[in-house]
Formats: sequence, structure tokens, C-alpha cells
Amino acid sequence: MTMKPKVIVIDDDSDMADFVRDAVIAQGFDAISMDRPEDFLTSRSRDCQILILDLFMPGVDGIEILRFLAKEKTDILLILMTGKDRAILSSAREMAYELNLTVLGTLEKPFKLAELEEIMNRYIGKERKESQKLPTVAELENAIAEKQLSVAYQPQVKITDRSVVGFEALARWRHPTKGAIPPGYFIGLAEQHGLISEIFDLITKIAIHQCGKWHSAGLEHSISINLSPKNLVDLSLPSKLEKMARDSKIKTRDIVLEVTETAVTKDVAKHIEILTRLRMKRFNLAIDDFGTGHSSLQQLIKVPFNELKIDQVFTKYLDSDAECQTITEVSILLAKKLGMRVVAEGIETEIVWNKLRKFNCDIGQGYWIGKPMRAEELDSWMTSWSSA
Ligand code: C2E
Ligand code: MG
Ligand code: MG
Repeated sequence: MTMKPKVIVIDDDSDMADFVRDAVIAQGFDAISMDRPEDFLTSRSRDCQILILDLFMPGVDGIEILRFLAKEKTDILLILMTGKDRAILSSAREMAYELNLTVLGTLEKPFKLAELEEIMNRYIGKERKESQKLPTVAELENAIAEKQLSVAYQPQVKITDRSVVGFEALARWRHPTKGAIPPGYFIGLAEQHGLISEIFDLITKIAIHQCGKWHSAGLEHSISINLSPKNLVDLSLPSKLEKMARDSKIKTRDIVLEVTETAVTKDVAKHIEILTRLRMKRFNLAIDDFGTGHSSLQQLIKVPFNELKIDQVFTKYLDSDAECQTITEVSILLAKKLGMRVVAEGIETEIVWNKLRKFNCDIGQGYWIGKPMRAEELDSWMTSWSSA
């Protein structure tokens, strides 16, 4: 027998709470509603998979509940709703993220039933996908040994003249029975179980070799490689990479190393040392997913980055969201002032591309330009891109 996922709906407006409860029951969930948030805090039957939570309530409000859940270290998934103001929704979401809570979605009242259903479907999809796809460490170890990992290349182009600048190397895993497993499912696993340096070695070897092939064919493309902070433990990394570049007859300046959050670990000094040595050897250093980390601005000063990658959460909504526009525009300006080149990732439409051109963004990357591809597919992509 399969258990129905349980949902609790909390809203001080009891009609609203019941309405939402009935809607999710109609979708096949087991749900109850509460119009007094205090009941949730005291009730012993708090066990649920999803909590749909109104943020503005008299007495105990939604924010207090978030704090409470964080203290309890639950893995309840949240759907936040409010009729007040969109900015509140996004800051509550941010706060939930900071507290290590997972937000499945947000709802601005009044919302359409379809919006709620779409979020609930995300849960169903997530569950199905997770149970099917979540790899084990043993499987990952085996994948490394059996060479199931490969590299996909996503084009990066100059926004002023559309010329191809280089490619980002992205790890791909094709499991013999589970199919393609996204990096989001195995990079973290590799980091936790000490496998990330093996993955880095593997991806770097393939990617640098590929870049060498482009160069010997007269195509001076750069290669961008993702570096986990956990890769920054080995002081010999800069010379190891330098040797790999030399062996493939490319220059260190043809290689971009993309790094995300480094400040929250205890080895900050070592990280900075390795990154500085890399930069001294003329490797390019990119700060990846800029704007989403915890101390991105501080890192900009501490680490000698020379490229800034604007995260796709900002790029994606550039055509419709004024705040995303402001953040993107200011990030571009900031990068320029600091003498860095700016790459915008996640360009999915021509409208977004045109906006970025207006903002003087240097380089673009995204599905609208080209999806990550196998090396063999790049030729035909280049032909169609240059003729479009
Ligand atoms: P990232 O480095 O920020 O890479 C960009 C991600 O955005 C890629 O996801 C890419 O496929 C996706 N993407 C590109 N353009 C678009 C677009 O227009 N729309 C949308 N919705 N997505 C787009 P992917 O390949 O799933 O990789 C996810 C993350 O996993 C990467 O984010 C990176 O942080 C990490 N990763 C991938 N390969 C490696 C690796 O070899 N080593 C390490 N340490 N991390 C890796
Ligand atoms: Mg990246
Ligand atoms: Mg990124």
C-alpha cells in the first residue's frame, strides 16, 4: 500500500485554508487545514510532507513558523503564500533558504487553482524523479571506474557580434539503467564522499584535451571548467593544471576556472592561496552563480577573479521582472568597474539577449544560443549559429 503524501494548510482565513485543503485533496493528497497557527506549533501531529503556509497571520505569523521548523530541522517542503506583496514572498523564500528549508513554490493571493496544482505537481515530479534517479555512492564510484561520465560543452558567445568565445564543460553521467543523471544529483554526493577530486581530474582531462583539439584546428576557443571549493585543497593544483595545458598545447589563459561559494568553509586561506596562484599562472578565474552566494561581494575583493557569471535566476526573468533587471544591470556595472568580463548565463529568449546587449554585457550563454552538447555536435551548431 502506498501512503498518500500529507499536506497541512495554515491560513488564519479559514475559508482560504479549507479551499486550499480541498484543492490538494482533489489532487490525490491527504490534507488538513488549520486556521490557528498556534495549533501547528503545539500539535503532535505535525508530521507532514508539505506545509502550505500563509505569511501574514495575527498572533503567530508565517515567519515564526519558518524559524520553528528550522530549529526542528525538518525536511518538510514549504509552499509560501501571501496576499500582501511580492517582495515579502521573495524575502521569506530567501529566509527559508538561509534556514536550510526547502521551498517548493510561492503563491500570491488571489491565485488560480492551476498555479497551486502546478506546484503540487512539482512535488509529485520531484518524488518520482528522486526515487528513480537518486544515485548511491557505490554507483558513483562505479561510474567513475567504468567511465560512465562524460563532458557536454555549452557555447559562450560575444553579445556584440555573436562570435564564439569558448565553451563551458559540464559533467554528464549516463547510468546504464537510470539514464541521464543531472550534475545536481551527483556533484554534491561526490563532494560529501570524497569523490570530487576524481571527477575534477576526469572532466579536466577530457575538457582540456578537447580544447587542444580546437586549437590545433585553428579555433582559439576557451574552455571553462567548474571547480568545487572542495577541489581547492591541493597546493599543487596550479602546476598540475599548467602541465595539462602545456601537454594539450594550449595556454593557461585559454582556461577559465569557475568557482562558486568558498567563504563558508574553514579553509578560506588555502582556497585563496590556490586561487591566487592560479591567477598568477594566467588562468582565468570566474565567480560562478554571482548574486546567489552568501558573500559574493566580499569574495570579489578577496579573490583575484577576472570574470563574473551572473546567475540564471536573474537572467531568466529579465524580460518581466524589474528587480532582476536592476540586479543584472548593477552586476554588469560592478564587474566593469572592477575590470572583469561579464558572462550572463541562462539566456532563453531573444528578448533577454537584447536586454543584455543594452546593458553592455560581454558574453552570453544559454539555451537560446545553444544547449550543452557532445563535442561531435559542435560543428553543426556553429554552422547554424553563424547563419542564423
Ligand atoms: P553552472 O556551472 O552554473 O552551469 C550552468 C547550468 O545551467 C548547467 O546545468 C546548464 O546546463 C544550465 N543552463 C545553461 N543554459 C541554460 C538555460 O538557458 N536555461 C536553463 N534553465 N538552464 C541552463 P547543469 O549541466 O545541470 O549543471 C548544473 C551545475 O552543476 C553547474 O552549474 C555546476 O555548478 C555543476 N557542475 C556541472 N558540471 C560540473 C563539474 O564538472 N564539476 C563541478 N564541481 N560542478 C559541476
Ligand atoms: Mg559554471
Ligand atoms: Mg552558474
